[in-house]
Amino acid sequence: MSASRLDIAVIGAGMGGLATAAALRKAGHEVTVYEQARRFTRLGAGIQIGCNAMHVLRGLGLETALRAETFYPRSWNNRDAATGEVLFDMMFGPEAEAQYGAPYLLAHRGDLHAALASAVPNEIVRLEHRLVGLEPQGDGRVRLAFENDTVATADAVIGADGVHSVVRSALFGEDEPRFTGRIAYRTVYPAARLDGYPISNCTKWWGPDRHIVIYPVKPDRSEIYFVTSQPEPGFEIESWSTTGDVKVLRAAFDGFHPEVQRVLAAAPEVHKRPLVDRDPLPQWVDGPVALLGDACHPMTPYMAQGAAMAIEDAAILSRCLAGTDRDAVERALRRYQQTRQERTARVQLTSRQNRWGKGVTDVDWVYGYNAWEAPLASL
Ligand code: FAD
Repeated sequence: MSASRLDIAVIGAGMGGLATAAALRKAGHEVTVYEQARRFTRLGAGIQIGCNAMHVLRGLGLETALRAETFYPRSWNNRDAATGEVLFDMMFGPEAEAQYGAPYLLAHRGDLHAALASAVPNEIVRLEHRLVGLEPQGDGRVRLAFENDTVATADAVIGADGVHSVVRSALFGEDEPRFTGRIAYRTVYPAARLDGYPISNCTKWWGPDRHIVIYPVKPDRSEIYFVTSQPEPGFEIESWSTTGDVKVLRAAFDGFHPEVQRVLAAAPEVHKRPLVDRDPLPQWVDGPVALLGDACHPMTPYMAQGAAMAIEDAAILSRCLAGTDRDAVERALRRYQQTRQERTARVQLTSRQNRWGKGVTDVDWVYGYNAWEAPLASL
């Protein structure tokens, strides 16, 4: 192995893990991705890909594929749920693309995940490998243990294993994320179910204590997605089911604008999940192990930036580890943490307020960031 070619284990093949694997390979490292799932499933949900995430995805060679599969909105319009009054029309389309240097796209989650998976060779992804433990070895490498009784070693480990990260617990102890007291219902369905009723943009409908965001996820608007946020006072984790009741959902949005009623009336089924986040963590790195994405900075979805932050992390991490040998891994990972912490904390805390787009909003600091060019922290 050459001095600057590290053997890196990435735990988790979500958006963050796959982006990280692709970026680290681009930087010349050997990567193995360990994922607990048996196969990738196409969850019925949409995802907004901010211009900042698109800079990274372009650098991974995915822009053409993503443009072909996604919807290109004119704006993210914010409207009062009852009156329809426009509160803030956050402009995207060619205007934002010219300003920020990359497009804003609306995707099916499965399409973004598939694009990222296409940037990583199948043979480096080990499915059905649920990490259950990790420990440093005497030679500076890290030993990984999996539920299927296999073990592996690596020069560095990246915990991209989501909000309930086993890597984070192993490094910093067990603790639960903060439940916001709210849940999200979401689904994707064929626009044909709307009988010609046009959904031609991205709209967030703001009610007094709840909201719904609706947008197409295909270039020809053939699939429609919505996601809500609403209080769930009787929430009990023990009886939690991920399938929602469409009738309960429709009743919860009674009184919202007719467009919302129409979209909910046509929904065949919905999934629901609790909304959680964390306060910014003081530490993401311990020796040759680092956290990335939701494992270290889970956030509410109100800025549509959780995956974007994980994807930005991937680019910055790969820049910090470029040309790094084993002796310099810890320093490179600390530099990654130091470069990323302030920005991700700001997004976490801004998102938590749920005011993004409710009135005139300064959005340049989010969408104008290019992780391939942003300055790295000096140590
Ligand atoms: P995850 O996507 O959670 O991936 C973690 C992976 O690790 C999974 O594949 C999991 O199976 C695997 N794993 C877990 N534990 C182990 C283990 N022990 N061993 C091996 N593998 C393991 N973000 C946006 O940018 N735009 C949006 O529009 C947007 N909308 C959202 C809407 C909702 C309702 C929600 C809840 C979130 C939204 N987000 C959005 C946020 C986004 O979904 C997350 O921030 C993003 O998926 C985080 O990616 P990740 O790779 O860090 O974690």
